[in-house]
Amino acid sequence: MRAKAIDGREIDVKEDTLAGLKARLSGPLFPPGDAGYEESRTIWNGMIDRKPAAVARCRGIADVIACVQFARENALLLCIKGGGHNIAGLALADGALMLDLSLMRGVWVDPHGKVAHAQAGCLLSDVDRETQVHGLAAVLGFVSLTGIAGLTLGGGFGYLTRRFGWTSDNVVGMDVVTADGRLVRASSDENADLFWGLRGGGGNFGVVTGIDYVLHPVGPQVVGGIVAWPASEAPKVLELYRTLSEKAPPELTLVALMRPAPPAPWLPKDVHGKPIVALLACCSGRPEEGEQLVAPIKSFGHPIGDVLVRRPYAQMQALLDATQPKGRRYYWKSEYLPRIEPALCQKVIEHAAKIRSPHSAVILFQIGGALNRLDDGHSPVGNRDASYVLNVAGSWEKMDDDGANIEWAREAWNDMKSFSTGGTYINFLTEDEGPERIEAALGHGLARLAEVKARWDPQNVFCTNRNIKPA
Ligand SMILES: Cc1cc2nc3c(=O)[nH]c(=O)nc-3n(C[C@H](O)[C@H](O)[C@H](O)COP(=O)(O)OP(=O)(O)OC[C@H]3O[C@@H](n4cnc5c(N)ncnc54)[C@H](O)[C@@H]3O)c2cc1C
Repeated sequence: MRAKAIDGREIDVKEDTLAGLKARLSGPLFPPGDAGYEESRTIWNGMIDRKPAAVARCRGIADVIACVQFARENALLLCIKGGGHNIAGLALADGALMLDLSLMRGVWVDPHGKVAHAQAGCLLSDVDRETQVHGLAAVLGFVSLTGIAGLTLGGGFGYLTRRFGWTSDNVVGMDVVTADGRLVRASSDENADLFWGLRGGGGNFGVVTGIDYVLHPVGPQVVGGIVAWPASEAPKVLELYRTLSEKAPPELTLVALMRPAPPAPWLPKDVHGKPIVALLACCSGRPEEGEQLVAPIKSFGHPIGDVLVRRPYAQMQALLDATQPKGRRYYWKSEYLPRIEPALCQKVIEHAAKIRSPHSAVILFQIGGALNRLDDGHSPVGNRDASYVLNVAGSWEKMDDDGANIEWAREAWNDMKSFSTGGTYINFLTEDEGPERIEAALGHGLARLAEVKARWDPQNVFCTNRNIKPA
């Protein structure tokens, strides 16, 4: 088997050496050409087409240890796939031994201690499904098909962030297979430096096999959904967003977006493809209060669609899934914002009008609240001055359209980045964003991250990520 060594050299791994790995695994080992190999290397962003040397679909921690040890023994490059949702395709590396964790999707909930232990191959929906049985929820993201591992290791935000902070602020422990193939616990009591690094520093320190989340009482019913108006109403709707979100209690999270109307059943057929402005809301507190809080949205102007209603929390978590199908081509540009300024709203309208694809959007996520109350040193995710996320989200079907769509996203971002805190979200960085963007994302934490890296992965075994070099 042709493979890549950790130092970038092409190497040959003999068949009987590979057979040795196979014998040590409980899960399957897929060579190139196998259907399982193709399935594993196909990720959410259709722009990414990389070919690992082989794929080990791990069944549990013992398989992960076997792979890490094998990679070390043979100086092989490793890559790790959680949910495969990273837009830069960090789950995939050419020539690497790929660990696909998609068989590790168990969730165990302790309803009395309000903690869930989730295996690292879980998608958000796996965790929501089990925790909602007890009327509890972890702080996760907006699209239920995203992997928990990449999301949590990069920080993570969603509908509960305003109440409880970044996803990584709500983690109490992780199980990690280190570069030397040991299983260790990372928490505030054990290996605290590793625990600190894992909450924002990504997959730099080991393979995380399980994550323990603090749970919060949420649902089962919340008030949530979306209301849309024609784009001609955008100046007024975005002003409503600006003022409402500024005074919204932490239970209410508001998202504004502009895009061509998708062919969704809740929108009349004659508006499909036409530009719209929409407000997405989720009130995770009591539904009666939620209804009052969203009343100004539901009664505003003349909406063309309104599905902002009482609904199960788990359904709310999946509301955007259909807009983000696997295999389309995606390119994003993002910034954290301290506030929404009227001048920014103008720019959002201007750049939404230039969208080149029926699937692209300009989105403003509200996140300010609990995360702002911790200090930057709490964990590397930092960015404690952020209140919103601007996401210029390009999404289209054909390779021939790459140029036009990427150009649109870059232009819009260039024109709006002056509104930024100066920080950006590590998990939203695209393939072409380099060290200066990692600096913008992880800011003050980088020097300390390099020290943690030197202690836990001095040879940089875990390098197929937003890589931090050992100090
Ligand atoms: C449609 C969509 C919606 C999104 N919405 C949100 C959102 O609402 N909130 C938010 O915060 N983010 C969101 N994201 C971003 C998301 O957090 C990242 O894409 C994240 O990387 C997804 O995690 P994953 O496990 O699927 O990543 P993967 O692509 O599988 O992996 C990403 C990186 O994490 C590393 N990694 C994965 N698993 C492990 C592990 N077990 N141990 C060590 N390293 C590991 C990989 O090596 C790789 O470097 C969204 C992304 C998409 C595509």
